[in-house]
Amino acid sequence: MNKPSETIALEQSVPVRGEYDVIIVGGGPSGCTAAAASAREGKHTLLIESTAALGGMGTMGLIPGWCPFSDQEKIIYRGLAEVVFRKSRAALPHDSERVDWVGINAEALKRIYDDLVTSAGAKVLFQTTLCGVFEENGRVSAVLVANKSGLSAYKARVFVDCTGDADLAVEAGARYESGDGDGLVQPSTHCFVLGNTDMYAYLFKLRWKLGGPAKQLRDDPELDLITDNFICTDAVSPDAVGFNAGHIYELDSGDPEAVSAALIRGRKMAEQFCKGLRKYAPEAFGSAYVAQTGGLMGVRESRAPPLLPRRNRPQQLLCGHPPHLQGPGKGRGAIGPLRAL
Ligand SMILES: Cc1cc2nc3c(=O)[nH]c(=O)nc-3n(C[C@H](O)[C@H](O)[C@H](O)COP(=O)(O)OP(=O)(O)OC[C@H]3O[C@@H](n4cnc5c(N)ncnc54)[C@H](O)[C@@H]3O)c2cc1C
Repeated sequence: MNKPSETIALEQSVPVRGEYDVIIVGGGPSGCTAAAASAREGKHTLLIESTAALGGMGTMGLIPGWCPFSDQEKIIYRGLAEVVFRKSRAALPHDSERVDWVGINAEALKRIYDDLVTSAGAKVLFQTTLCGVFEENGRVSAVLVANKSGLSAYKARVFVDCTGDADLAVEAGARYESGDGDGLVQPSTHCFVLGNTDMYAYLFKLRWKLGGPAKQLRDDPELDLITDNFICTDAVSPDAVGFNAGHIYELDSGDPEAVSAALIRGRKMAEQFCKGLRKYAPEAFGSAYVAQTGGLMGVRESRAPPLLPRRNRPQQLLCGHPPHLQGPGKGRGAIGPLRAL
């Protein structure tokens, strides 16, 4: 991140716009279920989300499919996770029987989370970003947020950090570490959706055989932004395929300038994937176009609590997803959480 050339002192009073039992910051899968659970217990609950929709990486980030929910026979995650998963799966009829790697229709999932949270009685505040905390007697007493009405504060008795980057915890002074011993983090991915695909060809001929085209994309000199053959896909609507593909290396998600550059690069990468797949997998993607890129960068690893050994962090324990390499061709693996703090 740029070193500041100077600092400007900020001394101002901000309006307190609400007081709650529980405030949850970050409306991804964890924040939505935390908010619903809190409101179901009768707690006056506010969910603060910086984008315009709930679901985090699952909706705004365009993750194409659910990591396995089963022991390969039956669903083993219960509670609100199972409720959300079943409703999401029902929105994609072609996947109605499967339990693992089921596609995500992001628009349907946004509404599922809207309903989950609001029907439980929690209030949602979109397009509002946490940017600080107030403390009283060593405890967080209010959060400072920025939105269209400027800076304001919200008070609560309990705060839950579901930002994926531990923004609230770090503002409150929590210690954290980032990446491996050298500060290297797992690469990020900017997910995207290709529309106008031949769904029959994709589902029945290509879906599990994309390894070949992926290597051709990597080796095509015209597609210079595609530096490895990582490609995960799923059908996300009757004519669209979602992609979790390509890597952006050594991105510090706490550096807004770096994230901005990575989003621009990610959109160019999506276009290169589309161009390459039109060429190397024409049966499914011959007429495809980039229908959408994520509104959030897919950051696999950012801040993590120093107490947990890297190999034991939550995401790995929950879904056993293999780690991504640290750099193109470096071959050095690392186990880390997928923003699961
Ligand atoms: C590249 C990538 C690929 C993945 N692939 C898969 C996959 O194929 N299948 C799968 O099941 N899982 C996958 N995951 C994991 C999955 O996305 C995460 O486990 C899940 O999204 C974690 O949910 P969360 O609520 O903790 O965080 P997130 O989904 O990241 O949600 C965090 C939310 O907090 C909001 N927020 C952040 N900072 C602030 C702030 N300061 N103020 C207000 N709001 C804020 C964000 O806008 C966001 O909505 C992947 C993750 C990544 C990064």
